[in-house]
Amino acid sequence: MHPRSHLPQRSRLALLVLGFAALVAAVSLFAFRYSLNLGLAELQATGRHRLDLYAASLEREIDKYAYFPTTLGLERDVLQLLAAPGADQARVEQVNQYLEQLNERAGSLSIYILDRNGRVAATSNWRRADSFLGEDLSFRPYFRQAIDNGSGRFFGIGTTRGEPGYYLSSVLTDSRGMLGVAVVKVGLKQLEKSWTTVEAPALVSDENGVIILASVPSWKFTTLKPLDEATRSAFDRTQQYNRRALNPLGVKELAELEHGARLVRLPKAEPEMVSMFPVAGTFVAQTQPLPGTPWNITVFSPQEQVRAIAFNRAAVAGAGAAFLFILTLLLNQRRRHLKDRLADQAALQRAHDELERKVAERTADLSSANTRLQQEVTERTQAERTLRSAQNELVQAGKLAVIGQLAAGVAHELNQPLAALRTLSGNTSKFLARGNLATASSNLERIGELVDRMGRLTSQLKSFARKSSGTPQAVPVRRAVENSLFLLEQRFKQARAVACIDLADEELQAWCDANRLEQVLVNLIGNALDAMEGIADPMLNIGAACEDGRILIQVRDRGPGLDEEVRSHLFEPFFTTKEAGSGLGLGLAISAGIVADFGGSLTGGNHPQGGAVFTLEIPAAPEGKQHD
Ligand code: ADP
Repeated sequence: MHPRSHLPQRSRLALLVLGFAALVAAVSLFAFRYSLNLGLAELQATGRHRLDLYAASLEREIDKYAYFPTTLGLERDVLQLLAAPGADQARVEQVNQYLEQLNERAGSLSIYILDRNGRVAATSNWRRADSFLGEDLSFRPYFRQAIDNGSGRFFGIGTTRGEPGYYLSSVLTDSRGMLGVAVVKVGLKQLEKSWTTVEAPALVSDENGVIILASVPSWKFTTLKPLDEATRSAFDRTQQYNRRALNPLGVKELAELEHGARLVRLPKAEPEMVSMFPVAGTFVAQTQPLPGTPWNITVFSPQEQVRAIAFNRAAVAGAGAAFLFILTLLLNQRRRHLKDRLADQAALQRAHDELERKVAERTADLSSANTRLQQEVTERTQAERTLRSAQNELVQAGKLAVIGQLAAGVAHELNQPLAALRTLSGNTSKFLARGNLATASSNLERIGELVDRMGRLTSQLKSFARKSSGTPQAVPVRRAVENSLFLLEQRFKQARAVACIDLADEELQAWCDANRLEQVLVNLIGNALDAMEGIADPMLNIGAACEDGRILIQVRDRGPGLDEEVRSHLFEPFFTTKEAGSGLGLGLAISAGIVADFGGSLTGGNHPQGGAVFTLEIPAAPEGKQHD
């Protein structure tokens, strides 16, 4: 096949494949996006839940220590010490011990009391070498907060031991007014304890964006955002972070999500660390402020799992779409196939109906043609019958015409014997009177002969005139010729013509109607006599022979013969060269018709030695049907 004929089909296939791929891709993408959004929403809900949980546990932990500084204001020794700091050394020791015991019991880092100037009046760590007893801590923000607001909270790193902690402070007063400030420093470890069960990375950042608490240890003392120089120098002044490097954690924000959530990327920690949960990658970050503190708590929920689920769902949706597409394609193909089959069936039915209609039409045509044909045949038969009867009438008319022509001769023929009869009968009666019986009897014999002859003539005429049936039978040629000549005898006498009969066989018999054959011969012989009128010694030759089962009868005269003009019209009806009254021009036309009826032919020509020759060719009588 030519490759071009494949082209539309090929491009259709390409289009189909393209459409298939596009559909699968679109459905997969949609499923992925939908599933991802759904997953993210779920993740956010979980994140919010975790946020609440972690914040609550942290708050609980802090609150545990919140009442400590305030309760110190109930201790009489403490208040007396603050009223006169450093005056009574024994009291200082007593309070130091008390604070030491309290600190141990509470599990805090340290508990200490500052006088109204910010100097450490007593402390739980009084035994340690690096104890800050007597140190001036008025520069610490928690001191000022307590003086100004009654209580303070501060995250910072210890100036002496560099230990980070959460400072909770409370002003101590009595009836005399403000005496000092009580401070409890809670270690981060204590706070972190509440986070031991976290399932996702979480962190607490302070008001400066510095991470002070994190479920990932390496995150601690990094910043959420890079710090500018002014902030750094301010930190140096307060020694809040005790000159830590404070490098940025490197959180990269990818997108803003609903309800303040963000999509972020966390960098890989160096060196690689072992963790219960992923600490690097894409996360949904959610932040909320920690009540009672200027801090924020942030929870990171890993997006990986959601993405994996979304990928899985996208794959399933894609496969489903592919399956549906193929199913639709198959169904469509089946529907088309069915439609084609139905169309084929309809076309077949139409062709069938058309065929039946045509057959019915043809049958109707055929039957009407048949009817017409039958009608025509009937008409033809009718016409033939009419024609035949007309022909018969014509033949008869022709015959009567001949008889008319013969009438004068016949009358003459009959007059002569009648005159002779009168003379003979007169003579006979005279001879009888004379007693001459011999002569009388010979006269009577003569009379008898004459009567016979007259009778023969009249009977001949009668038989010639009768209407013949035209039924063929064996006809002796000699008898037919002689009968014809007999009828024309008078004309021969008048013309002084002679007829020579020359038959190849005396027993020749033709298969025709005798009466009609004689009619033809009378016509031909009559025409010959007409042609020889005024000729000296007119002679007529009648010959007959048999050739191949055909009888040939020739009538030759010594007349002027047939010129071209006459020959071309010879057998046409009403063609005559004779003067009006003597010829109708029907003789040869009727004769030719009669001969054709016999199954023979009639032709006219010229004899090489002058005169016309008419040849009659008719079937010979078959063997066994011949006349005796
Ligand atoms: P009709 O004798 O009444 O004229 P026919 O049909 O018998 O009619 O003859 C037609 C014509 O044929 C004649 O008029 C004559 O001219 C020509 N014809 C017929 N027989 C002969 C013949 N033997 N010799 C010459 N002419 C003839």
